Amino acid sequence: MKSKVKTHKCKACKAGLKQGYCQNETCVYSSWPQTVQVEDLYHLSYAELETKYSVRKFHWEVVTEIVDDILSMPSRNVALPETGSFLDVVNNTAKTLGLTPSPAEAIMAARIFIEKTQQKV
Ligand SMILES: [Zn+2]
Repeated sequence: MKSKVKTHKCKACKAGLKQGYCQNETCVYSSWPQTVQVEDLYHLSYAELETKYSVRKFHWEVVTEIVDDILSMPSRNVALPETGSFLDVVNNTAKTLGLTPSPAEAIMAARIFIEKTQQKV
């Protein structure tokens, strides 16, 4: 399995990045990729940003809700999916919750899910 280790730091607050998003939740870059210019973050609406950069605002609350739901079901931790199926678990859970995560949010949820599962071993 390929593991992408990102050593970059947020260009606004210098905090570490997770999947390209700033880990500092009070930072504007926790919801937007680093490719977005900081001036635009303050001058454009979310819709304008999404159009200009072809990105979606990153919703951490969606990720958290999905991960919390998965982890609240012990049976899902026991039956660990094959590699690649973590995303299926995430997507199925999202559907159950009535959420529609972006691909980036789904991947983030899967990553956190994997991390948390491994910590329990
Ligand atoms: Zn930051």
